Amino acid sequence: MRDTGTRLNPLDLLASLFDSGRGAYALDEAAWRAALALPVFAGLDAEELSRLRGLAQGLLADKAFSGAGGLEMDAAMATTIAAFAVLPVLELEENWYAGWVEVVVYPGEFIFDGEQMDETGVVHHVRHARSGEAMAGGPLVLSWQDVEWSGRGEGFNVVIHEFTHKLDMRNGEANGRPPLHAGMDPAAWALAWQAAYDDLCRRVDGGEDTQIDPYASESPAEFFAVLSEYFFEAPHVLHAEYPAVYRQLAQFYRQDTLARRGQAGIGDNAAQPQQGMGYERT
Ligand SMILES: [Zn+2]
Repeated sequence: MRDTGTRLNPLDLLASLFDSGRGAYALDEAAWRAALALPVFAGLDAEELSRLRGLAQGLLADKAFSGAGGLEMDAAMATTIAAFAVLPVLELEENWYAGWVEVVVYPGEFIFDGEQMDETGVVHHVRHARSGEAMAGGPLVLSWQDVEWSGRGEGFNVVIHEFTHKLDMRNGEANGRPPLHAGMDPAAWALAWQAAYDDLCRRVDGGEDTQIDPYASESPAEFFAVLSEYFFEAPHVLHAEYPAVYRQLAQFYRQDTLARRGQAGIGDNAAQPQQGMGYERT
């Protein structure tokens, strides 16, 4: 474990219960427009954008956004996070993010005290270890720096990653298997995911430089969250690598991100996604 970064202090999470209520931030128009200009939202039509906005306003009203580790939360930050967070649930009818309240944001990477949190049912991470955490029934924690690296169509989105862990937790522990919709075939889901997971684990173990971030091979839960990031951020990469998983996610999210991004002129010929930092925001 690196010792840089702010140590995640459980007291920050408790304190945030008292000092920042739900619905403290209204949608910030400038931040909303800036978010929608990012590649991850490319190809959404006016009706979809209108519903997305309504969902973001609902999330801002329902959740308590607070800063920790010195970060001063504001409406623009909360709006950016909400915009990413509601994209996966755009076509899902019920409130899949019900049952928890807190979104806690650190300025950058935070150090997580894994042993202590183990007993309270926390999901651990390695790649995103210090960029985000989703706690079962509890707070969702994000690094603002990583939020700023999200949305660029390069396969990385810490907000989508952590919020899809929350979707996965709708039927118990995060295990890569959220509740499926009526009409979806659980056997087809299991087959597609197991084959893809086994394939990625084998390639990562063999030292291959995979297109999908090797962190996805950490566990089935991380595989689901990371591949959900690719589904929205770089669907052409996911579809090329694991088309059966792409189809399962298209059924689960009820979105065809590949077609949508293709119509927006982003897709087939897109460059390979890059991990890292320092590229230009579009
Ligand atoms: Zn994770």
